[in-house]
Amino acid sequence: MTLLKETEAIATVTFGQVYCPICTHTVEAQIVTTRKKQFVKPGQRCPRCGSLLDAAHVLGHDRAA
Ligand SMILES: [Zn+2]
Repeated sequence: MTLLKETEAIATVTFGQVYCPICTHTVEAQIVTTRKKQFVKPGQRCPRCGSLLDAAHVLGHDRAA
């Protein structure tokens, strides 16, 4: 029996602003949005400092896709 996680089923990926805690700058990154939460798509690197953005904070979305 396959059980599909609801959060994965409805997740969408968009670009938005995230705060990199390493270099303390706001950069653009792909953001995964589910019905309940937003988080930075895993595996991305900060264009400024090259650190993984997994721990970065999502600040907002660009309205235009
Ligand atoms: Zn950075």
